[in-house]
Amino acid sequence: MNITNLADQLQTPEATLNFCQKRKLVAEEKRCLHCGQDCLLAKRASLSDGYGWRCSSCRCWTSIKNGTFFSYSRLTISCILKVIYLWAFEMASTKNLHRECGLRSRHTIVDWKNFLRDICRDYFLRNPRQIGGPGHMVEIDESVFNRRKHNVGRLLTPVWVFGGYDPAEKEGFLATVPNRNAETLLPLIKKYVLPGTTVVSDCWRAYSKVGGDGYHHLTVNHSLNFVDPVTQATTNHVERMWKEAKQGNKRECGTNRELLETYLIEFMWRKKFGRQPFDSILTHIAESYPVGKEELPITIATSSPSTLSSEALQKSEENISS
Ligand SMILES: [Zn+2]
Repeated sequence: MNITNLADQLQTPEATLNFCQKRKLVAEEKRCLHCGQDCLLAKRASLSDGYGWRCSSCRCWTSIKNGTFFSYSRLTISCILKVIYLWAFEMASTKNLHRECGLRSRHTIVDWKNFLRDICRDYFLRNPRQIGGPGHMVEIDESVFNRRKHNVGRLLTPVWVFGGYDPAEKEGFLATVPNRNAETLLPLIKKYVLPGTTVVSDCWRAYSKVGGDGYHHLTVNHSLNFVDPVTQATTNHVERMWKEAKQGNKRECGTNRELLETYLIEFMWRKKFGRQPFDSILTHIAESYPVGKEELPITIATSSPSTLSSEALQKSEENISS
């Protein structure tokens, strides 16, 4: 999908609502918390998204954003979808977000990027997965990253990151570590790599006991060559992963000082879902924020910008009847 297709699909409030319901971002039906009766989606020009839920019995209204990923935002749903689109295709620069979505505040931009990274993190929490397995090779390595501290300008702290990559499945893992000792790294291998895997590493001494843990272990002596002439073992893929991760970290964290950990999660997510990033993130948002008839209470919270105060509701009702 390109941005023109997306704009076509969000042309009217009806179309936007359809788009969201098809992707389970907005519920198809709801029940009123006050009286238990079914609510209906009804047009309402005074609501920012053009539609609201209306209880068939007690007549209360609430925003269609209520209880969804879009709740508590002043932006319209179609605007948020454009933000998500730009983020998905790595076009979410301050300039683009301003031009395409009218976002001006740096805070708002950072917040949305954080929300989307939280979705990436949730995905991996819901789908914990070990990589490798019998017949698979997993390359492991450690590398030092520079983490920019919050509000400390140019001061960079070095942080060790441990990672592994299965080139056949294009799947990997990354974890920040306090040091590179065997006591730190071996438990992480057990956590992330399936038994029976052929683990390939350099000759760092912490890895000397990997072979005793139910893994086959091959080493590459980087002072001699990059591919072992006998076993063909190489760590080229995991090293390419470091290169890509560091380029992105420099680009992203150099501008908004994100924490390295959340950046690495986004990096792994993009590695896995980069072919269809927009569809994938929408699917994962729907999984993180399930919408359904029973789950979402209808409330009128005056503190939430996405819902209307009862006074405002009454006012717009008067407008409708007059
Ligand atoms: Zn009701």
